[in-house]
Amino acid sequence: MKKPAEQKLALRRVSKQIQIGDVKIGGGAPVVVQSMTNTDTRDILSTIKQIKELEEADCELIRVAVPDMEAAQALKKIKKGIKIPLIADIHFDYRLALAALESGVDGFRLNPGNIGDHEQIKQVVLAAKERAVPIRIGLNAGSLPKEDSNVKKPVFQRMVDAALEQVHLLESLDFDLIKISLKAFDVPTTIAAYKSIAEKIPYPLHIGITEAGTPRTGIIRSSVGIGTLLYLGIGDTIRVSLTADPKEEVVAGYEILKSLNLRQHGPILVSCPTCGRTEVDIINLAQQVEAELQKIKKPIKVAVMGCVVNGPGEAKDADVGIACGKNRGILFKNGKQIGVVEGKGFLQALMGEIEKF
Ligand code: SF4
Repeated sequence: MKKPAEQKLALRRVSKQIQIGDVKIGGGAPVVVQSMTNTDTRDILSTIKQIKELEEADCELIRVAVPDMEAAQALKKIKKGIKIPLIADIHFDYRLALAALESGVDGFRLNPGNIGDHEQIKQVVLAAKERAVPIRIGLNAGSLPKEDSNVKKPVFQRMVDAALEQVHLLESLDFDLIKISLKAFDVPTTIAAYKSIAEKIPYPLHIGITEAGTPRTGIIRSSVGIGTLLYLGIGDTIRVSLTADPKEEVVAGYEILKSLNLRQHGPILVSCPTCGRTEVDIINLAQQVEAELQKIKKPIKVAVMGCVVNGPGEAKDADVGIACGKNRGILFKNGKQIGVVEGKGFLQALMGEIEKF
């Protein structure tokens, strides 16, 4: 695939680097794509099966919910059955954190402030430190500490203040393997919170829009929020939260990164929006090509265009493409015509060129 466009993003904020298993986060490492299982963690086989499917989709980190001790102990077998680093999502009970560590997790998401008293937090933090397991302080707008009725602060500010308090708590225990997230459903609030904290702490940031919704709206909401932050140089790992199969989160995550030229991952499909010049069913053809491209891992830019007059020109930076007229398609490579397809075998002809590329 050609070099990405000349236009540069803002310089990326360079954070301290941490490592979750063998995956580096921050400090100039590529932005990491992660997801979360939606199986019952106690159902070890189903959880491993879902994580294996996510590995196939190139998910790089996986988080699982740990609602009770049985789930915390199940992590041991889950960890043995998967390749990517495993992160335990823990709330309220410090004993679950200790058990998850015993099970060999590579990272935690928790709020130190809600898992117990100082002595209990200390136990968890010291155990994580001993094993060099990072902790993500995961703050959501919906679960902020109670507001002081005398001081009115914007939500983003309250999120930042609460996160800083947690950061200071970990630092006071001489722990710095920290990652932070500050998610809200409201996109401007999320952006303001991350922009503010990015200037105040040296740690890597996990970015996302929480409870973003079903794919139709959730991908848009997440793309606007995550995309804006990444464009500003903020964010070291992303999760697109969707009410959907977690594989869709991974696909959407890579599409966001690809659209900003931050990662290469599989093919990119360019397709024309169709117009009054279109003489064939381009919508159907583009959908078929998209389905075929899902089986391909190589980075290649493919164009499906709806007319032979403007098509090749409009898609001139595609690697391979087809511009379709009535019963006639022009195949092009790097914007130049390389052949003509007569009849209706557009899909086969295009896929043949992609395979050769
Ligand atoms: S490529 Fe042709 S058919 Fe497609 S939008 Fe452009 S002019 Fe219209």
